[in-house]
Amino acid sequence: MIHAKTNRQGSKPALLVNIGQLLTLYSPRPGPRRGSALKELGIIEDAAVLCIGGKIVSVGKTRDALRDPWFKKNRRNVIELDCAGKVVLPGFVDAHTHPAFISPRLIDFEKRIAGSTYEEIATAGGGIRSSVEAVRAASKKELSVRILGCLLEMSAYGTTTVEAKSGYGLSLEAEIKSLEAIRDAAGNWPGTVVPTLLGAHVVPKEFTTNRQKYVDLICKQMIPLVARRKLARFVDVFCDKGAFTAEETERIFQVAVAHGLAVRAHVCQLSEVVLRPLLRFHPTSFDHMDCVNEDDISQLAKRDTIATLVPGANYFLGLEKYPPTRKLIDAEVPVALATDYNPGSSPTLSMPFVLSLACTHMKMSPAEAIAAATVNGAWSLGLQEIKGSIETGKDADLAIFDVADYREIPYWFGIHRCIATILNGEIIRTEIFPTTI
Ligand SMILES: [Zn+2]
Repeated sequence: MIHAKTNRQGSKPALLVNIGQLLTLYSPRPGPRRGSALKELGIIEDAAVLCIGGKIVSVGKTRDALRDPWFKKNRRNVIELDCAGKVVLPGFVDAHTHPAFISPRLIDFEKRIAGSTYEEIATAGGGIRSSVEAVRAASKKELSVRILGCLLEMSAYGTTTVEAKSGYGLSLEAEIKSLEAIRDAAGNWPGTVVPTLLGAHVVPKEFTTNRQKYVDLICKQMIPLVARRKLARFVDVFCDKGAFTAEETERIFQVAVAHGLAVRAHVCQLSEVVLRPLLRFHPTSFDHMDCVNEDDISQLAKRDTIATLVPGANYFLGLEKYPPTRKLIDAEVPVALATDYNPGSSPTLSMPFVLSLACTHMKMSPAEAIAAATVNGAWSLGLQEIKGSIETGKDADLAIFDVADYREIPYWFGIHRCIATILNGEIIRTEIFPTTI
């Protein structure tokens, strides 16, 4: 299940014309983009896109769109957006975020600058566990207001679909409250939200001497309740040093799949995790992948499990090492990009900044980064049929950037160039539009 407003009839038809470069992301090849197909953007110049009822109904050249008999007849009821030579692409699919928290972690930030490591900060009472108290104490309303604020800001940077995890509650009540807050926030945002249960983020303080009991709580209570109440589409596990073991992850995955939920995992961020035993659960995505081994790379090349890379975390943690991205792409593993928005290791909502990092620090080309952040992001969430490319029949999710060439999107790092976002057919202008629009 995903959260999206169901009544799209309210939004007027919209026609975007004079698009300098329309990145459709169309490819005749089926499946997630891998290898050389990752850089296929399906560009149409001087393009137009017509959106009706939250869906894309036609894609082509401006001159054909303006001559279309339906358009001529209905022109008065259509919102016309003159894009004046700018770039339009599918809205970003941010396939990995942790928005259900209350406060920034500024002490961790300073400690890290002063030289403490991720593990040292966690052992000293910082890290993920330090966000838990505030989430447990917060009301559902307070959480959902914060999450809605994130979603709105994300759309200002061009994001139209967001995967949102719980994971700072770490009790049955607080995880359910977090997922309900995500649902409530999603109901007030025109984009699409995919909720994920991350009860297995870390073992909470009160269970550190009996971690087995916490895994039992996840398997016997959290997952069945979340499935019954349809509060999540995915179950995620942080499978790494200091979090959950591969055996615990297998057990949680088994229960999730038995309850009809899909699975994904944080893996290989801090240490090597052998992924092969987890593949039988058909994870939709493995995220981070900094320390992935050679055997698993060759296994993943044969499957549709996406490697979702989150370079914002490497950047913010001040690491020199990034995931072996060229190796993954050259081996034909499909890769996606996401923000990993969270208060500890990646407090950014900006997909354009992540694209920039992917280019400069992971040596992805601008075209590869864009495909990873759109079409492969959609695959990473199992939404490839409706999201990630500008094709007839797909959801009307688009971003308009005030640039003349798509390569400028990662080039102008830290600069806000997204001027409008269309989310399921609803237009949000993120800056004062030039008079032409
Ligand atoms: Zn994460």
